[in-house]
Amino acid sequence: MIIAIDGPAGVGKSTVAKQLATRLHYRYVDTGSLYRAIAWKVLRAGVNPSDHTAITALLASTRISLTPDPEAPCVRVDDNDVTHEIRTAEVSHMASVVSAIPAVREWLLPVQRVLGAEGHVIVEGRDIGTCVFPAASVKLFLDADSEVRAARRQRELVTAGASVPLDRTQQDMDARDERDRTRLLSPLQPAPDAVVIDTSALSLDQVMDKLMAVISSKR
Ligand code: C5P
Repeated sequence: MIIAIDGPAGVGKSTVAKQLATRLHYRYVDTGSLYRAIAWKVLRAGVNPSDHTAITALLASTRISLTPDPEAPCVRVDDNDVTHEIRTAEVSHMASVVSAIPAVREWLLPVQRVLGAEGHVIVEGRDIGTCVFPAASVKLFLDADSEVRAARRQRELVTAGASVPLDRTQQDMDARDERDRTRLLSPLQPAPDAVVIDTSALSLDQVMDKLMAVISSKR
């Protein structure tokens, strides 16, 4: 069984996806971390993301691996453990920029499919239900108001020790979502057969209950 969870930034996908994976004894694949890993390498190499030839050359010499463990997800690029470094605002921005490049999406498609191939996996991202695993047994699309998502993201940033003003967090997040929703290739949108859940007014426990109910009905 493959469970796809898509939705915009800050909606709480990672929190619920990890909890679901732990509860169901499933593996957990955060596809956003793969886009972030490429963004990290682009930034480190100083490649201009509008130079698609240079991006393609960079991808040709790139190896990415991900440990699909919900308790300790680990992302490696070439020989570097980038699990923590890929969580900065700079990498978030660059991930959304490189994710609109066709060569990057094509390169990551088989990587994601291999990670989900064995089943018993929760796969989180933007286009899992529409593109990466269109035959997933369960497709969930989480959404929430922009203000609510910004406040949730802000709490995560503060917990991680970053001090960014709330309005800046919301601006960055809205810009990223706009880019993700309007790009030509695999834009952020619910699959026609996805269950869409608005989490704006729900607690984490309430969201988990709803998701478990949907999953149980499909098992
Ligand atoms: O989920 P996360 O915020 O870590 O994703 C970072 C960026 O990676 C997103 O803003 C989006 O541009 C891109 N992404 C994507 N498709 C996915 C997962 C992430 O385009 N399946």
